[in-house]
Amino acid sequence: MQIVTKDLEYVYQKGTPFEKRALFHINVTIPSHSYTAVIGHTGSGKSTFLQHLNGLLQPTGGKIQIGDMAVTSEKKERGLKKIRQKVGIVFQFPEHQLFEETVEKDICFGPMNFGATEEEAKRQAKTAIKLVGLPEELLSQSPFDLSGGQMRRVAIAGVLAMNPDILVLDEPTAGLDPRGRTEIMDMFYQLYQEKGISIVLVTHSMEDASKYADSIIIMHQGTVYKKGTPKEIFSSPAELIDLGLDVPESVRFQLKLENKIGKKIAEPSLSIDELVENLFAYIKRVNDK
Ligand code: ADP
Repeated sequence: MQIVTKDLEYVYQKGTPFEKRALFHINVTIPSHSYTAVIGHTGSGKSTFLQHLNGLLQPTGGKIQIGDMAVTSEKKERGLKKIRQKVGIVFQFPEHQLFEETVEKDICFGPMNFGATEEEAKRQAKTAIKLVGLPEELLSQSPFDLSGGQMRRVAIAGVLAMNPDILVLDEPTAGLDPRGRTEIMDMFYQLYQEKGISIVLVTHSMEDASKYADSIIIMHQGTVYKKGTPKEIFSSPAELIDLGLDVPESVRFQLKLENKIGKKIAEPSLSIDELVENLFAYIKRVNDK
């Protein structure tokens, strides 16, 4: 399922003295089966944008086309419920929204809300708990007896149980330790590769954006500043640093070294492995001269 925005605009509290234009002139395409990272400062409009992707917010101008459903300022699509099922949003700290007495009931809540029978929902809960890498035995436990990392996985399973085409993730690793972060990011990547789910990831981690995404959107002051592949985005690291944004450590290291020696070593290295390869090739070239 593809999402396309056309001059999407959103103004909070429109027509009041407190009105605030949070988004304007947003023209992006999120193709089927893609992995998009959305980066930008706090206040740049990322969450406002995310909430349009499943119809939680209705544009105040322009249009968003989600699959075959269009939402505009005039027209709120009747199929919003279907959109919410097809585009699942995992908000920050989703475990705060767990409330049922068992993990199973919590995961079943979404599917049943969308019309699944109890039996279907339970089947989906079993599949979903496996997808997030937790044992089926946990289904009968209270979510509040689990570790923080497990609770987060249960909350994510609740979204996956609705069988979404697109998973929208708002800083999904916030508050996790480094190992938990990697595990959960790898899990999303696996869902993208093996289940064909599209991912839209809001992140402050440039490492994650460059490692997992096939396309990056930079938001700045309510609009899209730049979009492209990680290579394209990080090919001008100085520009990003000027904007006050971070770049992957490997890119920063390479840039510093290139400035120091006054020579370009290679295209920006998006990972430590790539940096080692590029440095190795450079040293070899110099030695062979
Ligand atoms: P980000 O997710 O990048 O931090 P947001 O989408 O939360 O950005 O915010 C974009 C802009 O909209 C900010 O200037 C913010 O202050 C403003 N904003 C966000 N939510 C509201 C709201 N409920 N009412 C008024 N202004 C808001």
